[in-house]
Amino acid sequence: MKIHEYQAKELFRNAGIAVPEGHVATTPEEAAAAYKQLGGEIAVVKAQIHAGGRGKGTIKTNRDQRGVQLVRSAEEASSVAEALLGKELETIQTGPAGKKVKQVFVEAGCDIDRELYLGIVVDRASGLPVLMTSEEGGVNIEEVAEKTPELIFKEAFHPDQGLQKEQVESLCKKLNITGDSVASANDLMTKLCKLFVELDCSIAEINPLVVTKSGQVMALDAKVNFDDNALFRHKELLELRDLDEEDPAEVRAGKAGLSYVQLEGNIGCLVNGAGLAMSTMDLIKLHGGEPANFLDVGGGAQTEQVTEAFRILLGDKNVKAVLVNIFGGIMQCTTIANAVLEAYKQVGFNVPLVVRLEGTEVEEGRKILAESDVDIITAEGLTDAAEKVVAAANAA
Ligand code: ADP
Ligand code: MG
Repeated sequence: MKIHEYQAKELFRNAGIAVPEGHVATTPEEAAAAYKQLGGEIAVVKAQIHAGGRGKGTIKTNRDQRGVQLVRSAEEASSVAEALLGKELETIQTGPAGKKVKQVFVEAGCDIDRELYLGIVVDRASGLPVLMTSEEGGVNIEEVAEKTPELIFKEAFHPDQGLQKEQVESLCKKLNITGDSVASANDLMTKLCKLFVELDCSIAEINPLVVTKSGQVMALDAKVNFDDNALFRHKELLELRDLDEEDPAEVRAGKAGLSYVQLEGNIGCLVNGAGLAMSTMDLIKLHGGEPANFLDVGGGAQTEQVTEAFRILLGDKNVKAVLVNIFGGIMQCTTIANAVLEAYKQVGFNVPLVVRLEGTEVEEGRKILAESDVDIITAEGLTDAAEKVVAAANAA
């Protein structure tokens, strides 16, 4: 689960991690009031969307307007908010569709001396969270990692013990953080590592992490993602979820208890079991096709869930053919066969449907489909299914 910058900074502030003062606004008037409340001369108005690259990103209908802008008066705060709110912001991370700005964050202007990078992720190889830092802050860190990996300094830490002082000191040396700033860096880094573990984050990224002219180390940007599988123990975090930022089909599938991931291809897949879903996608690709989605209806799916799954699949206008690939273990093939017919009745199919059934009650399931007047391409085995669905999609 992703959250907005202003929400991440609220979590940071509560954990004692240094961030500038700021207020969220949903109207130009609120933005002007927020500017006055800050009381300083310079403030920054920042579009809140679930994507980075806002500083370089532009509003689709006004390419001169960037997603992060310095302002020097309440009037300016108001007019920048006006130029951002309700508009689509396109950044390197949103893709051409852009994302609609519903809120802006009005933040005190920071007197920046240096912009660094800091990020925490879980390193799967060592099974530990690892803190990554670089002097190349404010820029695209993926590019730094690819072209000049020697400029990224890492320290893994044990979740129970947290980041150690010696580790911070070692990083500070490499980052040229000196004097009083070392204590400030130590405070921020150890607290952020603790927050990462306590809130079951999958990523916590501060880009840029700045050293101010007065030597303080603080977070100027904040990206925090949570591990969905751990959200059950952080009910309070669920309130931070912004469904408008998520793929509508994925939200809908989540409500029906389906695991669904939208992809770019044109072959809709309806499968039970994550492993089978992945091998189905592999097979489609092997035979020259592109899956439109990953969809696991789960082991014990009921007719209503399967019907909803079809609604979601057929609602994707890129889908040119659908492959139903079910191994009846706990699920009976008759259930899926009936669900296919029910879905046909309710949704109607405007694209070819290939069905491969195997497992419990397979004969009865096939019979139900054969005896119906629904136009179905039946397949024997995985390869046959993949070949048939790729051919059907290509013919469309
Ligand atoms: P994004 O990563 O989406 O572009 P950031 O929050 O990193 O957004 O902001 C982009 C740039 O704007 C930063 O690298 C920094 O130079 C500047 N900036 C952001 N917040 C402030 C602030 N409070 N004071 C001064 N400059 C800021
Ligand atoms: Mg940033």
